[in-house]
Amino acid sequence: MQIGVPRETAPRERRVALAPDSVGRLVKTGVRVVVEHDAGAAASFPDSAYAAAGATVASTLAETLAESDVVTKVQRPSPAEALAFKTGAILVSLFQPAASAEVMPALVDRAVTVLSLERVPRITRAQSMDVLSSQSTVAGYKAVLIGASMMPKFLPMLTTAAGNIAPAKAFILGAGVAGLQAIATARRLGAIVSAFDVRPAVREQVQSLGATFVAADAIASDAEDKRGYAREQTAEQQKRTAALLQDHLKQVDLVVTTAQIPGRPAPTLITEAMVAEMRPGTVIVDLAAETGGNCALTKPGEIVDANGVLIFGAIDIPSTVPTHASQMFGRNVLTLLQHLMKDGSVTVNLNDEIAGPMCVVYQGQART
Ligand code: NAD
Repeated sequence: MQIGVPRETAPRERRVALAPDSVGRLVKTGVRVVVEHDAGAAASFPDSAYAAAGATVASTLAETLAESDVVTKVQRPSPAEALAFKTGAILVSLFQPAASAEVMPALVDRAVTVLSLERVPRITRAQSMDVLSSQSTVAGYKAVLIGASMMPKFLPMLTTAAGNIAPAKAFILGAGVAGLQAIATARRLGAIVSAFDVRPAVREQVQSLGATFVAADAIASDAEDKRGYAREQTAEQQKRTAALLQDHLKQVDLVVTTAQIPGRPAPTLITEAMVAEMRPGTVIVDLAAETGGNCALTKPGEIVDANGVLIFGAIDIPSTVPTHASQMFGRNVLTLLQHLMKDGSVTVNLNDEIAGPMCVVYQGQART
């Protein structure tokens, strides 16, 4: 069996789907891994590291894919890339089926089966295969560092000969995987941290990280669905939450927002009026920018200055920590492949509780 790892071609994408450590583990199980020249270069993994792990380094995409039974990528392939796949190959990547119309004819042509990494079910057994979780960890960490570097203040308390500096106040909105990592990172940097989430289970997790839970009255017992995700708040609940958060936002220096509702636009938690009341110098890093943003003024990829309040619409953040983001992504892919491997080859069983929900295209046919 052969696994191909192409170089990513999407703009700003610096990750690679398998880091050398995961390649080494696959090679030890007898799998042949072919990595395209420079596939790991932007993540600081040179071709020599892949060769040392036992991979073959191919000089072109065509060579990488011609004999690969499984192709693993971070981002969905372009139509031209998909046409280089071997007939009947299995693609493992982020795929976002709703936005994949352009590549579908090529996948049909090559009878490709697609396992979409966003669809890893949120069950305990699949936690180690969940790229959304691993990449959210990276995003939560980096968001705080970005915010800290944009702030006109220190985060920690300092006692110096030039006087004492009070610690900054960081507020994390949405305390799922990214939010909890943001809390931990802001705490390590010495900030006083508070957080809010609509799901009741989160309160204890926030407190166990040494942060204060604010607006506890806005938590609804039915805020969480069966899969552990948040439900959209009603208009009434949204109004109530905004009223509770408004005063708190006036007192903070750094806000990291991470609130998401699967399949829906991100909830607007910070309105323009709320920003107008915030102190100049406050920084908002909006990790929900790609799905509409948690702040009404967010512009994806841009910094908006609203009377001295800076709002950064953060996009592609995991790609800015490419070494560890790739290492974690690769471990997720490796665990998934190990789960799918039977007698030395990868098979997709549509009745499998992990592969079934992930399989969005089966032998060239789109599944719903
Ligand atoms: P997410 O990215 O969908 O959302 C981020 C956070 O935003 C969530 O905590 C959500 O409750 C919160 N949110 C949504 N609307 C909000 C609002 N109006 N106000 C404030 N906060 C709001 O979620 P996520 O971080 O990927 O994960 C959510 C949960 O799923 C976590 O508890 C996590 O532990 C769990 N999880 C389980 C598995 C598994 O078992 N395999 C894998 C990943 C995550």
